[in-house]
Parts: sequence; structure tokens; C-alpha cells
Amino acid sequence: MLDEKLEPIFNEVLQRNPGENEFHQAVREVLDSLGAVIAKHPAYAEAALIERICEPERQIIFRVPWIDDKGQVRINRGFRVQFNSALGPYKGGLRFHPSVYLGTIKFLGFEQTFKNALTGMPIGGGKGGSDFDPKGRSEQEIMRFCQSFMLELHRHLGEYTDVPAGDIGVGQREIGYMFGQYKRITNRYESGVLTGKGLTWGGSRVRTEATGYGASYFVERMLGTRKQEFDGKKVLVSGAGNVAIYTMEKVAEFGGKVIACSDSNGYVVEENGIDLDLLKEVKEKRRGRVSDYAKARGNGAKFIAGGRIWDVPADIAMPSATQNELTGADAATLIKNGVIAVGEGANMPCTPDAVHKFLEAKVLFGPGKATNAGGVATSALEMQQNASRDSWTFEDTEERLATIMHNIHDTCAQTAEEYGAAGNYVLGANVAGFIRVAEAMRALGVV
Ligand code: NDP
Repeated sequence: MLDEKLEPIFNEVLQRNPGENEFHQAVREVLDSLGAVIAKHPAYAEAALIERICEPERQIIFRVPWIDDKGQVRINRGFRVQFNSALGPYKGGLRFHPSVYLGTIKFLGFEQTFKNALTGMPIGGGKGGSDFDPKGRSEQEIMRFCQSFMLELHRHLGEYTDVPAGDIGVGQREIGYMFGQYKRITNRYESGVLTGKGLTWGGSRVRTEATGYGASYFVERMLGTRKQEFDGKKVLVSGAGNVAIYTMEKVAEFGGKVIACSDSNGYVVEENGIDLDLLKEVKEKRRGRVSDYAKARGNGAKFIAGGRIWDVPADIAMPSATQNELTGADAATLIKNGVIAVGEGANMPCTPDAVHKFLEAKVLFGPGKATNAGGVATSALEMQQNASRDSWTFEDTEERLATIMHNIHDTCAQTAEEYGAAGNYVLGANVAGFIRVAEAMRALGVV
């Protein structure tokens, strides 16, 4: 139930942002957690602070024309939502996927604001992307698209203004093309303008692995609160992209056995554990599908076209593909099969109904804005290295990531307890993130 002071705020969000269902969902989840906060600290509800938090500071929508390999002119739509800069320059990834529209980018930018606050680092929240579909496009087409996208976006960026990174459909290759174009337009080697760069041109060690590794650190710490660990547990990781692959890698290091992963065509299940080297080869080198992995692997691996990965019995689930990929029905199946922990590697992968079921069943549940914050935290470490023209070792950087993830975990756990909801990491993450942003916004006045 929404607090009566927050209800009109939510209704206004619905009215001002019609049809943007994912954005409504993300706002509702945060507002659901804030009743106790404004009861304890009424000042946070003054000066329309919560209304301002729900309204992006700036929303940019632009045309991205490009020419395909047949010489045909194509048009896509580009977005950058600069959501909140109270804590630092806008920071958040770029997503290239045909499903992208303003509501996707707004929900992601809103989530990002609280996630970035939770890292304790000086970064505000933003997100961007395009409805461009990179699937099946040639290398040349991807480059031309990235260059056209940056030709417009560059005027809104800068290391003190807005620093994008990757997300779905945007990895190191795309960041490279965009960074190259930014450098060409501005005639500045401004490393701190994009993160997720390659190691030889300003990138940070561990950035590629950071989101998946970080999510695993978070879940391992969460399991520890119940004297459990990954070791010996069966784990499901949905997706087979950047976050999924490095989640699988760290889970395996912790002794867990990842028995299934997926893409938008279906899932592969392998009771003896997924062969990560082969999966990486298929996904990262050949840019193939999980069905190609199953084919290459042979007997032990089974590909289920169009199936639900959550039907596979396991101890731990790490949804790491996309929003709303795990429904209330999936949650019921997982609970019936004895799941003990769920860690969101993706942004908002569990529907509100699913989250509710996990919390009710006392399944350990790590919400994305806390669990997957390792990616952006390591992006902030990349910015630090760029600013000081330094480069740290893998071990040093990973140690910092682990410490950040443990701190985020402990902050969420302590905040939940303080607000009478011990064990509820959703409330803990929302409240702790909100308080950091709200404190800064109050200090900066009505801007
Ligand atoms: P990638 O593009 O590298 O991978 C996405 C993966 O998810 C692909 O395997 C894709 O399959 C799969 N996928 C996408 N949509 C669906 C669907 N509807 N059903 C099943 N599988 C699907 O993206 P990332 O790994 O970078 O991002 C994954 C999630 O993690 C996103 O929610 C993103 O916002 C979040 N995230 C990413 C961070 C990062 O550092 N990269 C940081 C924090 C959060 P297919 O190839 O078939 O499309």
C-alpha cells in the first residue's frame, strides 16, 4: 500500500508519463518503500523533493540516420535521459535494442540514480540508447550507426557532464566506435567521457567482468547471512551476454554449478555444468546463440527452444537478461523447487508479483539496483584512473569492487533493519539510495 502522502505523487507520474509502463513500475517500487522514511524525516517530503526526483532533469530524443550495406537510408531514434545530477555527472549505459522507447530509458535512468547513490561514489543517474537492432548487422553497419549516434549525442556529453557506458547491445566494440567519433569531432582525447573502453585506450581492468562479478559477490554475502554459500549449489543464470557470462565465471569460482543459461530464443540446460570456455568462444568470438553452444557441446547439453529457464530446479537464480523476464508464475515454480536466493543481475528482471512472492516466501532477494551496481561502480573506478592517468592491476581493481559490493550489501541490510524490515533488501536499497540523493538535493536547493 502506498503512503497517502505519496499517492498523489504517483498519480501525477502516471498522468505525466502516459504509456510508459516500465517507468511507472520502477517509480512505484521506490515509492512503496518511502512511506516509513517520510514519516521519520518529514523534511524529505518538502520542497517537492520527491516530485523532482521523479522528473528527469533533461530528456533528449534525436534522429539517427545511417546508410545500410545496400545503400539504403535507415532512420532510428536515439535517446539520452539525464535523470539526476545531485551527486555527480550523469552516469549510465546506452542500450541498443528494437524494444527501446522513452519509457525504457526513463525507467533505467530512474533506477540508475539510486543505484549510483548506493555505490557511494560521486555519480548522478542517466541512461540512453536507441531502437536500433544490432542483430544481423554487419561490422560496417554497426560502425556507421555508432558514428551517426555519437554525431548528435556528443554535444550533451563530457567528463563533468554526462558519461555513458554499455548496456544491452552495446559492448566494447560499440564503445570503441563511439569514442573514436567523439575524439574526432572534439579533437580531444577525453578518456573520461565514456566507460567500458578497451585496455589499450583508457579502459579499466575488471570493467568487463564487473557487473557479473559484483552480482556474485553480493549474493555470496547475502547467502552468508544465513550461513550458506555458493559452494555446491545449483545455479540458473538467464541471458548469455556480458552480465550473464561473468556471473557464471564468478559463481563457478565460488564453487557453484551453473546448470542453465538462455537467450531470447530459449535456454540450454546441462546438469554437469555449462562449459564456460566454450560458451565464451561461441558468444564473444563467434557472436553465436546459446543453441549454437548446445550444438557444439553435444550430448550433455539440451537446448529448449522457447522454454522458461525458471522451470529448471535449482538452489539459486540470477536473472541477468532483461526487464520483467521472471514473472509471478516463474517465482512460484522456483519457490516450489526450493530456491533459496535470487540475485538480479539485470535491471528489474523480476515483475512486482515475483518480487512479492520471493519476499513473502523469505527467499533471499537482491534487487538489481544493489546487486548489479558493480558495473557502474567499476565504471567510476575507470573514471578515477582516467582522471589521474593511471592504470591499476586486476587484483587491486577487483579488491575494490569486492569491497564496494560488500558495503552496498551491508548498507542495504542495515537500512532495512533500521526501518523495521530486516532481510528486505528491496526496501533497504530504495531507502538508502533515496536518502543519499535526497540529502544532496536538499543541500543544492531547488534546481
Ligand atoms: P548483453 O546485450 O550483453 O546481453 C543480453 C543478454 O540477454 C543476451 O543474451 C540476450 O539474448 C538476452 N536477452 C535479452 N532480451 C531477452 C529476453 N527477452 N529473453 C531472454 N533473453 C534475453 O547485455 P548485458 O549483459 O550488458 O545486460 C543484461 C542486463 O543487465 C540488462 O538488464 C542491463 O540493463 C543490465 N545491466 C548491465 C550492466 C553492464 O555493465 N553491462 C550493468 C548493470 C546492469 P539475445 O541475444 O537473444 O537478445
